[in-house]
Amino acid sequence: MDMVIFMYLMKDIIREGDPRLKTPCEEVKLPISGEDLIVLKGLLEYVIASSIDKLVEQYKIRPGVGIAAPQVGVLKRMFAINFDDFLNNNKHYSMAIINPVITWRSKEMTYLPGGEGCLSVDRNTCDMLTPRNYKITFKAHVYDFRTNTCKPKTMTLEGYPAIVFQHEYDHLDGIMYVDKMYKHLDLEPLYTIGDADEE
Ligand SMILES: [Zn+2]
Repeated sequence: MDMVIFMYLMKDIIREGDPRLKTPCEEVKLPISGEDLIVLKGLLEYVIASSIDKLVEQYKIRPGVGIAAPQVGVLKRMFAINFDDFLNNNKHYSMAIINPVITWRSKEMTYLPGGEGCLSVDRNTCDMLTPRNYKITFKAHVYDFRTNTCKPKTMTLEGYPAIVFQHEYDHLDGIMYVDKMYKHLDLEPLYTIGDADEE
């Protein structure tokens, strides 16, 4: 049996109501310090582990596709994402992001039809909708833990990846998706949940 020691478990994730989630975060000083790197690695490990059913059960962690440093009480501008873009051939995204800046946002807006969720939000907010730009361009430093390199990167994301990115990015500015939830939005949803929902 291999033992895995995770840096973060549910007890380490701060929840809605904690003022740190409302606090804008500071830039990460580069080159990244060993201390910050441990946090970033822990964030990435969390989202990867939480995509594996066996580990979710074993460690009682809640699945999440993204987690930002402030959610573990570290007020620095970094987050990790890990998911498959289910609307685009399951293209896999797994990234540790440092000091991101969204440099462009499409005028076109959309939203996740079932609403968003967050590891820091325990209440049920399903069917509440959060508007997001359909497409964004960002620049950031991206850390690769396989090669231990930190490289500047510019990327354009659209659809689901763009929504996940904006959700995490908002955390760095002390903004939660629950701060921008609506019952109805006069926008096209990212996708249609099912025929039954269209009636
Ligand atoms: Zn969140």
